[in-house]
Formats: sequence, structure tokens, C-alpha cells
Amino acid sequence: MSNDLFEGVDYYQLDDLLTTEHKLIRDAVRQFVKQEVSPIIEEHAQKCETPKHLIPGLAEIGAFGPTIPVEYGGGGLDNISYGLIMQEIERGDSGLRSLVSVQGSLVMYPIYTFGSEEQRKKYLPQLGSGKMIGCFGLTEPDHGSNPSGMITNFKDKGDHYLLNGAKLWISNSPFADIAVVWAKDEAGDIRGLIVERGMEGFTTPETHGKWSLRASATGELVFDNVKVPKENLLPNAKGLKGPLSCLSTARYGISWGVIGAAMDCYDTALRYAKERIQFGKPIGQFQLQQKKLAEMVTEITKAQLLAWRLGVLKDEGKATPAQISMAKRNNVEMALNIARESRQILGGMGITGEYSIMRHMMNLESVITYEGTHDIHLLITGMDITGLEAFK
Ligand SMILES: Cc1cc2nc3c(=O)[nH]c(=O)nc-3n(C[C@H](O)[C@H](O)[C@H](O)COP(=O)(O)OP(=O)(O)OC[C@H]3O[C@@H](n4cnc5c(N)ncnc54)[C@H](O)[C@@H]3O)c2cc1C
Repeated sequence: MSNDLFEGVDYYQLDDLLTTEHKLIRDAVRQFVKQEVSPIIEEHAQKCETPKHLIPGLAEIGAFGPTIPVEYGGGGLDNISYGLIMQEIERGDSGLRSLVSVQGSLVMYPIYTFGSEEQRKKYLPQLGSGKMIGCFGLTEPDHGSNPSGMITNFKDKGDHYLLNGAKLWISNSPFADIAVVWAKDEAGDIRGLIVERGMEGFTTPETHGKWSLRASATGELVFDNVKVPKENLLPNAKGLKGPLSCLSTARYGISWGVIGAAMDCYDTALRYAKERIQFGKPIGQFQLQQKKLAEMVTEITKAQLLAWRLGVLKDEGKATPAQISMAKRNNVEMALNIARESRQILGGMGITGEYSIMRHMMNLESVITYEGTHDIHLLITGMDITGLEAFK
């Protein structure tokens, strides 16, 4: 992995759809991943360690909050740029892309969209520069696909709120400085609160033993009578649409990100198939291997078109949550299938850490589940086209 030979995949001249700025941004992030991520990521994943030393560099390349305005510490970029940044980072590792997605789409986005001016000024520049890391607490032990059933709640105690409950499966939680936490108020409405590390009664135990996203720390958020200052309530979010709009932003990024993981697997498998000799020929000369590779590049191309069109719709303010669900679902499945096929092309070598494929494959098993499972996104499409809800 230290010798990263990756070349982008562009079978349909999709670069022609990008501006010069898009390509500059993409190439800068690609360079960062080659120089800083590829040489170290396998070892971090093997040891289950988040490469936190990369955080300042990620901030420098504009990975945190690319679409947040510059005056608040974001990149002020469009959604195609945001997608390309996610693609290149996930080409390195889905765990690293998770860290970045959470920071930008699930922490900076809600503070920017639903926060007060004081909250924006206090937190966003710190988050954009990576001096502060955030996490997003929606999922609970008993409420995953159905977050509206959450039991985490807070009560108005006059000069503060008293927060109780627990969140599970929270990316970045073990080392995050702040958490955007979704909890019910006394009326039963879902609201967002900014909880800071160090508040009494707030703990973040790490979840161990993961075979997936090993370079991304995951943990719990436990609130035991935590006194949260009243100014930490996000004033402009009420109801499930608050967290769901954050998830739409992150899912859009995932639909691009996983193309990066797929391209990395395809690129590795293609190179290997041309070099590996069996029965006196490169294995890439056998029809069975060509079928795999030809189908991979076809699926990557379709996913690229889907993501690009979604980005254009998003920039025009026209992308619907159901369209985002379709792209997330299709592209994650595409990437996972390509990882599995690529792994086979490498034979035994495919299971080792010499190559990135097995790590991508294991990572994608989380990506297909988080931010709405594969099933739930299908049900969202089903509901959108029939008008009938099949969740309950
Ligand atoms: C590594 C990792 C990181 C994560 N990071 C975060 C984070 O930062 N913040 C956060 O809030 N959450 C996070 N999550 C949680 C993630 O979003 C949830 O795991 C996901 O929403 C699914 O919830 P669940 O695991 O409780 O599964 P469940 O909801 O229990 O689902 C189990 C199975 O049942 C199926 N199912 C559920 N309901 C239906 C239905 N109505 N019809 C048909 N099938 C159904 C699901 O598709 C799934 O296959 C993370 C998860 C992982 C694994």
C-alpha cells in the first residue's frame, strides 16, 4: 500500500463535466491521499487506530465542511466539489471519510443551518480548522432504523436543561470535543443540543471488536443527568426533519465517497489481472476475469453519472431526499460488489493487507448499514413512487 499507483477511472470522459476548479480540488485531495493516507492507513486499520495526526492536513485540503460558507470556516464550495473530496478521501479509506462526513455534514451543517449566530461563531471556525472534532448522536441501542422512537430526553430546569439517555454506534465519539445530540423535550419534540466533553455526567465509551471501519473510532454517548446550558439548544430545529436533513447531506457525500472505494478496488484488480500469470498467460486474458472487470467499469461509470447529476440537482436546490436515497443505496451496493469481485481476482493475495481491497470490503459493510440501511433506502424509493409507506 505504500506504493500507491492509483489512477482515476473515467471511461465516459466525465472530466469534461467538471470545471477546472473541480479538477484542481480533486487532484489536490488525491495527492494528499497518496502522500499521507496510503502509506499509513493499513497499519492504523490493523491496529484499530484513528489516524488523528491527519486531522490538520484534512482541514488544510478543505475536507471539513466544504459547502459551509468561508466566513464560518467552511470551504464555500459547490456540491460537486464536496462530492469529489469525499470520493478521493474514501478512495483512501471509508473510515477516514466517515470522520470527515460526520464533522462536515452531521456537526457543522446542523450548527450552520439550525444554530444561533453565537453558536455558529463559537463552533464552526474551530470545526472547519480541525481544532475541534464533533460527533452526531441520533442512533440509540433500541432505536436504529426508527429514530423517532428515541428515549433520550431533556427537561427544562429553569437556568439549564437536564439531559438523560444513551446513544450507540456514534462515529468519532471516543475523542470528539462536542456532540450534536438529538433528544426529546418535555412535549415529545425532537430537538438538537450541543453537548461538550467535560460536562458532568457525560461519558463516551469506545465500542471495541469491529471488523469494519477499524480506522474510525466508534462509541457510545451516555448522559447521566447532564446539565446542558440553555444556549446550547439549536434554536431552529424541531422534529425529525432536523436530523434527517443532516443525513441527506451526509448520504449525498457517501454516494460519491463509495465511488472512490470502488475505483480503488477496480484499479488494483485491473493492474493485478494484467500482471499475474497463470497457465502461461496474464489472468486478464481469460474471459471470466474480463467479464468481472468489464462489469466493474460499467457499474462505476453508471454510479459516477448518478452522483454527478445528483450534485447538479443539489446545487440547483432540486435534489429530493428520495433521490439521495436512491444514489446512496445504488452506489454503496455497487462498491461492495466491486470489492468482492476484485478480491477474487487477486486470489489469495486479495485477503492480505498488502492490498487495500479487503479493507474496503469490510468498511463498506458498515457503509451499507449506516446513514439508513440498504433496506430502508429501498423502502424510501418505494414510498416515493407509490405514495404508500411500507415501514410500519
Ligand atoms: C460503524 C458505524 C458507525 C455509525 N455511526 C453513527 C453516527 O455517527 N451517528 C449515529 O447516530 N448513528 C451511527 N450509526 C448507526 C447506524 O445509522 C445504524 O446502525 C443504522 O441506522 C441501523 O440501525 P440498527 O443498527 O439499530 O439496525 P436496525 O434498525 O435494528 O435494523 C436491523 C435490520 O432490520 C432491517 N429493518 C429495520 N426496520 C425495517 C423495516 N421497517 N422494514 C424492513 N426492514 C427493516 C434493517 O434494514 C436491518 O437490516 C453507525 C453505525 C455503524 C455500524
